[in-house]
Amino acid sequence: MILLCKNCKKKFYLHNDGTELEGKIIECKFCSQKWLYESKTKYLENRLVDLNNELDNTVSKINLRKKEYQDKINQLEDDLQKKKKKQQLKKKLQKKIYKFKKQKKKKKK
Ligand SMILES: [Zn+2]
Repeated sequence: MILLCKNCKKKFYLHNDGTELEGKIIECKFCSQKWLYESKTKYLENRLVDLNNELDNTVSKINLRKKEYQDKINQLEDDLQKKKKKQQLKKKLQKKIYKFKKQKKKKKK
């Protein structure tokens, strides 16, 4: 079969068929560059695995970010609840003060 060297771009003939070469080291007859032989199917398979891994990574990254956002939202909701409680306490206190002032005025009369 004809092989193309990626290093010197020269084509050379290798007496073998593709399936047997799979995963074997090829040496260029011109420049002695060595590389791992990969048929197109194998190449595509590996590329697919890579893409799957990338996808998995992306998904887990997205999930991580989602969790971060959810944590932030939870934190904000927590803060909001605390503020609401404080506000309610403040209102209660103001009512008490108001009542107290009223009573004072009544007593004065
Ligand atoms: Zn070469």
